[in-house]
Order: sequence, then structure tokens, then C-alpha cells
Amino acid sequence: MEILELGPGVIVFLRLDEGANIGLLRTDDGAVVVDTPSYPQDMQELLDAVGVSVPEVQLVINTHFHSDHTWGNQLFDCPILAHRLCRERMKANLDGEWSAEAIQAEIAKEEKVDPDWAREAREKLANLYITLPTQVFEKRREIAIGGVRIQVIHMGGHTPGSSVVWLPEARVLFAGDLIFEGRYPYLHDADVPALIAALKRLPKFDAQTVVPGHGALCGEAEIAALVDYLETTWTLTADHLAQGHSEAETVADPNYPHYAEEPVGRREENIRLMYDQLSRMEKDSP
Ligand SMILES: [Zn+2]
Repeated sequence: MEILELGPGVIVFLRLDEGANIGLLRTDDGAVVVDTPSYPQDMQELLDAVGVSVPEVQLVINTHFHSDHTWGNQLFDCPILAHRLCRERMKANLDGEWSAEAIQAEIAKEEKVDPDWAREAREKLANLYITLPTQVFEKRREIAIGGVRIQVIHMGGHTPGSSVVWLPEARVLFAGDLIFEGRYPYLHDADVPALIAALKRLPKFDAQTVVPGHGALCGEAEIAALVDYLETTWTLTADHLAQGHSEAETVADPNYPHYAEEPVGRREENIRLMYDQLSRMEKDSP
């Protein structure tokens, strides 16, 4: 992990190998956290690393519902802000894929594939108490803490309730998982055309630094590369579908764009997800 200061009080925990990037803003009136890691204890360690105590944190913002951006919420008593759809999905997950039984089953499944990960997850999630956002918004929310403005703007795309966090003074944009830098994006909950549209809005911020949800700090070139990957994969998949090709035939096409194969299998997974979304769109169209 690397800890970088992007502007006065603007800190990013760049966790290339550990998980999602986490943001922290320090002001004279307290701190703001942007996303919390899967393991609450990791959140505590990040705060310790920069000498910020839990009570100093005045606000937590979740960019979207995925566990690697929200499960560390339990550390905080302060308000937690997210888009309405983010909160709704988290709430629904409590009785489904995030029930204690479902989480244990997921860990047990991984045990055979990655026993070290499973051991760590079992240990670090033993006292997990999934904590929902306490405040929601619709289109955007502007907050000022210690005289520093923070804008949270709904974008959708990666998930229906995905938001970005914009610090206009420092011109830093926390893009959440709208951006995976230098690696395949995770698209399980994504609407691909909406994601492409959201990504195309990002250059309008004219940010000095863009913090992706995963990967290294980036700018317009990396956003353009991601848009290119998504558009090329989407268009190629639509062509296959139009020609009546099966999913297996489509995935076998060697002409799809490549990132370095990381995470393993995601290239194929993303083609399948797009094939599925396009098939549903075709079925729904009159
Ligand atoms: Zn995500």
C-alpha cells in the first residue's frame, strides 16, 4: 500500500494489491472517509497509519454498495452518506447474499481455491456487523466540513447507485469503481452503456487527479482507454449476437481487446456479462 497526499489534507490509500483504494480528507473540523475496506480492522489500520482517530471522522461516504467499499462502515458512529439505491441494495443484501450463512458459505467455497484468503476472511469477518448508510441523496449532495467543499454526485453505471466524490478546491475526483485502472473492470452489477456514458462525463470535471476504485492514480488517457475497452467489447459482442452466434462462439473470438490477464478469467467473464445484457435488451425491445 502507498499513502499519497494529493492536496492539502487530501489523502489516498492506494491499495494496488490489498483491495479498493480508500480516500481521506482532513480538515480543521474533522475528517471525511471515502469508502471503507472489506475488513473493519483494515479501516482502523489505515486511520492509525495517518494518525486520525475514529471520533475525528465526521462523515463517511460510500461510492457504491460492494463489500470492498462498505463493510468497514461499522467502525464509525458518524453519518454515513450514499446514494439511495446504494443503501437499498445493501439493505436487501442483508437477508440474501450478505446473510451470515451466505458469507460463511462463500468463504467455504473459496477455501479450496485460496486457503490463505479464506483463513484471513474468516478471522477478520468474525465480528462483522454490516452497517448501512444513514443518509441518502438522489442527484447530488454538497457538504462543507472545515470550509472544504465536498460534492457527491450520482453517476450509476458500475452499479445503479454508484457515485463519485469531487473536491473542487483540490480538484481531486474519487471515481469509485467507475474506473478500474490498467485491469479488467468488474461488471457483475453494471449497465455497460450507462457505465460508458458515466465515464464520458468524467473529463468535464477537469480534475487534476482521478482516484480510481482499483488501480493507480489516473487521468483522461486512462479513462479513454477504459471507454475504448468497453465500447470495443460491447460492439463486438453485439455483432456476434446479431449474427446469431452462441455465447461460447462469442467468447472464443480472439479479436477481443486484452488487458494483462488480471484478474484471471475476467476477460471472458466480461464478454459473457455483456452477451447476457445484450440478450436481455434484445428480448425487451419491441
Ligand atoms: Zn465495485
